[in-house]
Amino acid sequence: VPGSNPLDTDAAEVTVEKQKFSSARKFAELPLSQRTLAGLAKGKWQKMTDIQRAAIPHALAGRDVLGAAKTGSGKTLAFLVPTLELLYRERWGRMDGLGALIISPTRELAMQIFDVLRIAGVRHDLSAGLVIGGKDKAEEAERICGMNLLVCTPGRLLQHLDETPGFEANGLQMLVLDEADRILDMGFSSTLNAIVAALPKKRQTLLFSATQTKDVKALARLSLRSPQYVAVHETS
Ligand code: ADP
Ligand code: MG
Repeated sequence: VPGSNPLDTDAAEVTVEKQKFSSARKFAELPLSQRTLAGLAKGKWQKMTDIQRAAIPHALAGRDVLGAAKTGSGKTLAFLVPTLELLYRERWGRMDGLGALIISPTRELAMQIFDVLRIAGVRHDLSAGLVIGGKDKAEEAERICGMNLLVCTPGRLLQHLDETPGFEANGLQMLVLDEADRILDMGFSSTLNAIVAALPKKRQTLLFSATQTKDVKALARLSLRSPQYVAVHETS
């Protein structure tokens, strides 16, 4: 169920978009590439969850999204599908460097996102890696330089941005902040601010959070531009 967003200045365009896709119940009814559809089929994901129905059309239209939905509502595909589509539409290739960053609060959650990415992205010709620390940093640094898509925990990502020569985010197209409330609760507020400050301003950003706290709103103001607010209260 998409919410209305008082910050949105593109109301006419949003209305057109809603008329076009609000009725879509299945991924196959959205304007997605055959590659993404094949990955979704591999994962046996056919019908969209509510947060996916609400968020994906806006994200595909290039808007920043502030999404509110509880655990288990299907947020992972709500951001992975538009991320894969954006890179595909830009004809992103293995030589194009870092195109998308997904930031998650914990190593376990990052690994879960990576597992879904491996399935949904199976037919895309993109490289992807995990940046979650706990391993040798020099080895990790070598592995992640040049990767197209990275799933990260905040502390380790900032370390690489600061200290790893050759780790560049200059061409970044998409930033995803998953479980933003949890990231902030864990004390990563200044880390996130430093990461956002180090990234190119011209990018798309999707921010998901179970709760909309004061800190999440502050982060949203800092990281999003004219976001579309989508909220789903009950999970199916
Ligand atoms: P969240 O991040 O909101 O907690 P997840 O993205 O982890 O939710 O998804 C929760 C569960 O729902 C996972 O087991 C996932 O495979 C499943 N799921 C997500 N989207 C769909 C879908 N469209 N169809 C069927 N199952 C789905
Ligand atoms: Mg999740």
